[in-house]
Amino acid sequence: MDTATPVNATIRQHPERAASAEAGDFLAAGTVAHVGFQVDGQPYVIPFSYQYDSSAPDRLYLHGGHSSHTLRALAAGAAVCVTVTMVDGLVYSRTALNHSMNYRSVVCFGRAQPIEDPEQKQAVFARMIERYFPGRTAGEHYAPATEAQLRATALLAVTIESMTAKARRGAPTGPLDGEPEALGTCGVVPL
Ligand SMILES: Cc1cc2nc3c(=O)[nH]c(=O)nc-3n(C[C@H](O)[C@H](O)[C@H](O)COP(=O)(O)OP(=O)(O)OC[C@H]3O[C@@H](n4cnc5c(N)ncnc54)[C@H](O)[C@@H]3O)c2cc1C
Repeated sequence: MDTATPVNATIRQHPERAASAEAGDFLAAGTVAHVGFQVDGQPYVIPFSYQYDSSAPDRLYLHGGHSSHTLRALAAGAAVCVTVTMVDGLVYSRTALNHSMNYRSVVCFGRAQPIEDPEQKQAVFARMIERYFPGRTAGEHYAPATEAQLRATALLAVTIESMTAKARRGAPTGPLDGEPEALGTCGVVPL
């Protein structure tokens, strides 16, 4: 297991955008997790799908093939940083400096443990499919994973030791954006 330096889990840039009370909501709404870890001094950030359930707010799940470099490193105890970002809008301003984005994001720090129990794996995969595809039910809309498929798929539970969330919402805030007579245009392109 590597020894990670203590995590800085305090939002210092734009602290007014801190949204830690919404961290679970953001994780529940997200689509892609960027999974950061280090092996032999080399940092990696690899995109993954993930499962998160607000009834177990200190945990998220990653899955893939047993040969996955990422999953093997995490299973071996590498410290992990998982970031989930949603871009909600492109913010344009009458001043160059104040162009921005509306977003919701969460940064989680923790460690992962493999889950081997087939029933637990089956349950996590069913909930994960339901999270991405609400209303899809095993046995009705798709066949559940077979025992062999479960064995062939690695599942890791990341225990979230600390997390922060941040959001930018609303209109541009440049010094000229409230002045319709000023040069240029401003607004938000929703995504
Ligand atoms: C939206 C999204 C969701 C995904 N969900 C999953 C998932 O749930 N489970 C899963 O196992 N995989 C998922 N993948 C694929 C994942 O990103 C990795 O490619 C895959 O897991 C192999 O990982 P590895 O650690 O074995 O990489 P390796 O094949 O060992 O990676 C070797 C090198 O390949 C490059 N590389 C790896 N992946 C990518 C990538 N996605 N894009 C560009 N370069 C890359 C990097 O340089 C990396 O260092 C997803 C990808 C995307 C984009």
